[in-house]
Amino acid sequence: MPRKKLSSPRPSSTFTRREAIKLLGSGALLLAADPLPARAAARSATKLKAAPVMEEFPLTDVRLLAGPFLEAQKRDEAYILKLEPDRMLCNFRINAGLKPKAPVYGGWESVQTWADIRAHGHTLGHYLTAASLMYASTGHNELKKRVDYIVGELKECQDAGKTGLICAFPDKTAQIDNLIAGRRAIGVPWYTLHKVFAGLRDAHLLCGNSRARTVLVKFADWAVDATKGMTDEQFQRMLGTEHGGMNEVLADVYTLSNDPKHLALAERFCHKTVFTPLSEGRDALNGLHSNTQIPKIVGFERLYQLTGKREYHAAAEFFWNTVTGTRSFATGGNGDNEHFFPIDTFARHVSSAKTMETCCSYNMLRLTRQLFANEPMAAYGDYYEKTLYNTILASQDPDTGMMTYFQSTRQGYLKLFCTPFDSFWCCTGTGIENHGKYGDSIYFRGRADGGDSLYVNLFIASTLNWKEKKITLTQTTSFPESGRTRLEIKASSPQNFALRLRHPVWASTASVRVNGAAVESSSRPGSYLVLDRRWKNGDVVEVDFPMSLRLELLPGTTDQAAVVYGPIVLVGALGREVKPGDDLHINERTIGSVFNEPIEVPTFAGSVSDIPAKIKPAGAPLVFKTDGVGRPNDVTLLPYYKVAHQHYNMYWKIQSA
Ligand SMILES: [Zn+2]
Repeated sequence: MPRKKLSSPRPSSTFTRREAIKLLGSGALLLAADPLPARAAARSATKLKAAPVMEEFPLTDVRLLAGPFLEAQKRDEAYILKLEPDRMLCNFRINAGLKPKAPVYGGWESVQTWADIRAHGHTLGHYLTAASLMYASTGHNELKKRVDYIVGELKECQDAGKTGLICAFPDKTAQIDNLIAGRRAIGVPWYTLHKVFAGLRDAHLLCGNSRARTVLVKFADWAVDATKGMTDEQFQRMLGTEHGGMNEVLADVYTLSNDPKHLALAERFCHKTVFTPLSEGRDALNGLHSNTQIPKIVGFERLYQLTGKREYHAAAEFFWNTVTGTRSFATGGNGDNEHFFPIDTFARHVSSAKTMETCCSYNMLRLTRQLFANEPMAAYGDYYEKTLYNTILASQDPDTGMMTYFQSTRQGYLKLFCTPFDSFWCCTGTGIENHGKYGDSIYFRGRADGGDSLYVNLFIASTLNWKEKKITLTQTTSFPESGRTRLEIKASSPQNFALRLRHPVWASTASVRVNGAAVESSSRPGSYLVLDRRWKNGDVVEVDFPMSLRLELLPGTTDQAAVVYGPIVLVGALGREVKPGDDLHINERTIGSVFNEPIEVPTFAGSVSDIPAKIKPAGAPLVFKTDGVGRPNDVTLLPYYKVAHQHYNMYWKIQSA
């Protein structure tokens, strides 16, 4: 949660080609525009001071095929369509002096328990982003209708409100006014406003809604005006309060407006207390609220692209390295009770039911994409893959489509999910975005050494329509149920490009066949296999990477470990089932104090190196059972992403046999 603190259809061509080109670089942004001619893109990209070397494919050009990601996408879409825009718009209308059309939702949107966060209206912003992403991913028109309707309503609110600010806070502008005036403020108003900014950006870029751009720029102009009297010192003091990704979204506004005042404000929104040590390679993160920091870092990397200032990149790269390398659990998630803790205290924090806030993983993945766009290293793909399966895919209830807040490492705990209409957590907001953008990180395009490259980073069944090359690539795979994927090329004419296939860090070897003939192998996990050739219609590429079991130690310990198969974290199925729906939970603050009757959690006997050989396949894909290892009894192990409605265990105490 925010830190509680006293203080396919072608979109209409409403944004210009030049705008589109400038936005190609953003790891945070996706384009619904047709791909642009390479030369034009290259020329205009020089306007970015540090243009990314990678380009994304528009989300409209990637489609998921049957598999767990498509299922998650469909569940999420169904939930998005159940939410009613007029209820999310209620307090925006009231604050603008307009009559609301439906009563406000509960939870963080209106209920007194959470009023001191001042998150009122955050869901509407997330919703605009989520519906826009889902529209780009599916082409379903009802989603675009929703987006267009909400943007129209926000325009009406903005016009009626006169200042440019649009908000849904119960005390209107009071807390923003307090922050700007240097007074004590309640909650995290900039955090909440950031969601509305980002939603308008995405409605414009992904749904081609030009009105969203108008409202967005006017909203940003308000922010410039409202803060212009602040000294730098006053501004920095204000940034002590959580403010989401204001630096990132204002940088994005600048790419649309070309107005330097928006870039200047984006840079003012860089919090020096966090930025300075990171830019100097110092980890001063202990005790800081995790999800307050990560969006700031996404903004640093975006500002590096726009300004060319290396220190922004240095800070982002160092942050990513330290968080993924020293502050993360086996799933890729981080934090306990939403905070970074000293890296030698994992053994204490692992018993918490409030580890790994889902929003943190959402934001770490956004940062990872940004960094990959600037430097295409396989390590970014490796982290992306593990975190995508073990936290994002794992966050959705397969029965209700609802999402987790904390992903608990407490021994023998279970997943609790939000309710559909009474929670509206931060993780509900990022949660509705998560499953509409799986297509954004499977494939990337690079232009290293003057030639074209197609990067395949994820093994997810999907099609890619590479319009510029008139190529369709179909990826067929049952990964992670098998360590194999197959790519088939349909091309109207032969095309030269380098196919770069990620050799995952978890596979000791990888081998590739083209049209049945072995052509390439790799013994360098965490690198790319490169097939640079002239590709023709009907070419088939098959990649094999052997998957194996291993134990991954809890950082800082020698006697607690998680079981991992390839990139997939397995957890022990401890039973004591909960009826689907009974584990939907309104109040995230009480996670850990419900469903906590004692449960027996086995320990493992043996050594970290010997135990994997005693974990055996148990008849179904990705299901394993310990064999003579568990004390007092052996356990069945399942992928964490598949576990719901029963108690589980992720980290096992290991004692010598
Ligand atoms: Zn959250």
